[in-house]
Amino acid sequence: GNIIEIHGLKKSYDKGKTKALDGVNLEIQEGEFVSIMGPSGSGKSTLLNMIGAFDTADEGSISVAGIDLMKTKNLDQFRSEKIGFVFQLHNLIPNLSVLENVEIPMLRKKISTKDMESRAMELLELMNFSDLSEKVKQKPTKLSGGERQRVAIARALVNHPTIILADEPTGALDSRTTQMILDLLKDIHQKENVTLVMVTHEQDVGEQADRIVTVLDGKIKEGKA
Ligand code: ADP
Ligand code: ADP
Repeated sequence: GNIIEIHGLKKSYDKGKTKALDGVNLEIQEGEFVSIMGPSGSGKSTLLNMIGAFDTADEGSISVAGIDLMKTKNLDQFRSEKIGFVFQLHNLIPNLSVLENVEIPMLRKKISTKDMESRAMELLELMNFSDLSEKVKQKPTKLSGGERQRVAIARALVNHPTIILADEPTGALDSRTTQMILDLLKDIHQKENVTLVMVTHEQDVGEQADRIVTVLDGKIKEGKA
């Protein structure tokens, strides 16, 4: 079935002057890997933010993982239970260690310190951190861009999300590191049967998804632009 259902979704900024989304219709099936492409300013990030309930729409309907986001009050709970978010600039907290960063999403749950640590370590291993004991104690500032993005993906996965939303996850990386991060995302998508929605402006990155949707002037067009 559809895990994401969006109909006639509208969102404007600046008191209506900027129409970021202008009647978006989009259905995404459970377990799909979808790329959202399109020119800068077309509404990609706004759409992703709506799906993750980081912002609310003005009009239309949006249902994600069975939750009606236009009606639900407890969006914090929705986000922490259903969504894993990977940002372009990873948003790791600089004065916490790698391990502590990955543990953040678990803090609000009733999980013992020992279980939090073993779940975080499990994900960091999945993200190819060799020599775990050393790297995980370091601050993210000591790591390369690709390593930081792997930490961010581990953090996004730690609460077993139903959907991973990735906004330009490879936008700040060189091409070799880009492919490594994509391969890890594809791996997780297959192994964990998670739905993956990725915003990218890079053609060769977007094409690796099962399906490409293009956003143009706040509207959806299936396939490449
Ligand atoms: P994309 O991700 O495709 O580059 P965005 O969704 O970031 O596009 O932006 C779509 C449009 O909405 C742009 O014109 C952008 O300037 C505007 N916009 C996005 N977020 C805001 C905001 N918080 N306040 C005002 N305008 C915004
Ligand atoms: P992207 O790399 O996806 O194009 P942007 O640089 O357009 O990202 O936007 C980054 C963030 O800034 C988004 O969360 C978006 O909502 C916000 N934003 C974009 N345009 C504006 C704007 N004109 N005014 C305020 N916030 C904006």
